[in-house]
Amino acid sequence: MEKFTLNFVADIFEQQLTEQQRNLSIHHIYTDSRQSVEGGLFIPIVGDRFDAHDFISGAIEQGAVAALWSRTEKPDDIPEDFPLIYVDDTLKALQELAKVYRQELNPTVIGVTGSNGKTTTKELIASCLSVKYKTAKTEGNLNNHIGLPLTILRMERDVEVLVAEMGMSAFGEIELLSLIGRPNHAVITNIGESHIEFLGSREGIAKAKLEITAGLQKQGQLIIDGDEPLLTSDSYPNKIYCGFNSKNDYRVEAYVQGQEQSDVTINGTTFTLPLLGKHQALNAAFAIAVSELMNVNINQAAEQLETVIIPGMRFEKIETKEGALLINDAYNASATSMIASLDVVKKMDYQRKVAVLADILELGDFAEEAHKKVGQSLDEQFDAIFTFGTSSRFILDGLPATFSGKQKHFTSKQELIEEIASLLDENTVVLFKGSRSMKLEEIIEAIY
Ligand code: ATP
Ligand code: MG
Repeated sequence: MEKFTLNFVADIFEQQLTEQQRNLSIHHIYTDSRQSVEGGLFIPIVGDRFDAHDFISGAIEQGAVAALWSRTEKPDDIPEDFPLIYVDDTLKALQELAKVYRQELNPTVIGVTGSNGKTTTKELIASCLSVKYKTAKTEGNLNNHIGLPLTILRMERDVEVLVAEMGMSAFGEIELLSLIGRPNHAVITNIGESHIEFLGSREGIAKAKLEITAGLQKQGQLIIDGDEPLLTSDSYPNKIYCGFNSKNDYRVEAYVQGQEQSDVTINGTTFTLPLLGKHQALNAAFAIAVSELMNVNINQAAEQLETVIIPGMRFEKIETKEGALLINDAYNASATSMIASLDVVKKMDYQRKVAVLADILELGDFAEEAHKKVGQSLDEQFDAIFTFGTSSRFILDGLPATFSGKQKHFTSKQELIEEIASLLDENTVVLFKGSRSMKLEEIIEAIY
């Protein structure tokens, strides 16, 4: 479907084009020259390792009909009439384009940030709101300074609600995203310790997440973890609290974990959530709070939550041929989310519980302390703790003196694969969790 004609882009960047070029129909805005597209506006981003301007010929072969361009010269090998829109900086231009398109379409935007649970909460909210609205959402994890603009520019013109994930690793990033997305309401799921290396402290992390108020529309509600003092103490006036203590506006009153799903009661409504962990009940509370703001009542929202599916490698369950359960939670990790996942496994009904824990990265000076904290959360419910990487060995250092299970640190994935393979039977559950770049899924693929 046409998003706009090239006219729209040419006007923003004040370019002269021929009449024919101005009327070109743009269906897709993208940055990866290898993508095969129809009616594509290619935006070549200048990265540390590559400058995508070099790939323009490939992009044209794959279907680009126009491109933004921050070099001064037009390459010789592209067709004479291929329109280039000259800009100073292609990244800033992408962001500007998204800003204007967002204002023009003017859907209700729900921004979702936080240290953990952004993608999950985004999915829950989008599922609830889809009962009443044509709802778009961030694809996968496209949540940064490039992903958010692309998410906005991928909205069809008749979208009524956009649920947009906003991620960051340093100060200023959420502010930038908020000023592009201009959320009508925003959610901050929690304050953990991810990226503490760059943000200095949990106070710093809270401050960085609260930057989401920078672009929040007037009267916009800020939906937060109401059990987190670093968030409740902020002076932003319109806050809705979600959490477990009695002061919350949306309170998780009961949480009972089953084998496949949990029974959750929020503000008097009980439903079955096909996700495990108290943190998921909190994420559901955020979704209900947003739903009610948008005139989707708690019963309609709960009905949606009962069948929600979230993207892979987030507590994804895989059964091996021996009947053991592998839990692939290796999409990412922070100390908070690792402890949360371990708590879920503790309550599972398996005789033998094994945790394979890899490094949590980007912790800087906090690495030792954070890994030890994970170790301290473990108890006799686990039969074996295997760590892999470098800093993860601190988890073993943190284990309580009473821990009597097996504990072993690995630096070779092959040795770890052999160790786990010898344990697989129908009485065993194995949790895999670690930072994305530790690639724990390679171990799962090898033993599955
Ligand atoms: P990323 O920063 O990689 O985009 P994210 O914030 O989108 O991560 P998700 O992908 O939704 O987070 O979830 C990642 C993991 O975080 C989950 O597997 C789960 O273990 C944990 N998690 C989810 N919600 C919460 C929460 N509210 N509090 C703590 N941990 C959570
Ligand atoms: Mg995410």
